[in-house]
Amino acid sequence: MQFEGFTEEESQELSKAGIIIGTLEQIKGWARSNSLWPLTFATACCGIEMMGTGAANYDLDRFGIIFRASPRQADCIIIAGTITKKMAPVLKRLYDQMPEPKWVVAMGSCATAGGPYVRGYSVVKGADQVIPVDVYIPGCPPSPPALIYGLNKLQDKIRLEAKGKKVR
Ligand code: SF4
Repeated sequence: MQFEGFTEEESQELSKAGIIIGTLEQIKGWARSNSLWPLTFATACCGIEMMGTGAANYDLDRFGIIFRASPRQADCIIIAGTITKKMAPVLKRLYDQMPEPKWVVAMGSCATAGGPYVRGYSVVKGADQVIPVDVYIPGCPPSPPALIYGLNKLQDKIRLEAKGKKVR
């Protein structure tokens, strides 16, 4: 790894000595991306896959991802399931209660675009109609590895944004 403003040799010497150089924002981004605490928002069948992802077989803890039950302790929300028009204000309220910085993962076709019930009179056509979404995970339902892949992409996004790069 070559550090900004250092030659390759200097960077190698620093790395050998176990020294990491970065801006405070980059170090904060690195720390945040490795300690994501998602609030669970399971409204339908995708929630079961989300719970399975957090169980022993897939072990989300190894990525520093630990589910929280309170929005006050969460920096990420995983929306797993259908969002109805009645539920949308609750989602918005929970999102507003989360401290900054915060991120949103829409898991499954219901949360990303309304899913199989998209024509229903009561169904919101995707979480981004209510709050901003950072990562969309397709599938009905997405498997645990797909959710893990999406969460890893969110971690990449947090680290890249800390470097000042715009990620969509
Ligand atoms: S995307 Fe499919 S599996 Fe997930 S909540 Fe909707 S209907 Fe259920």
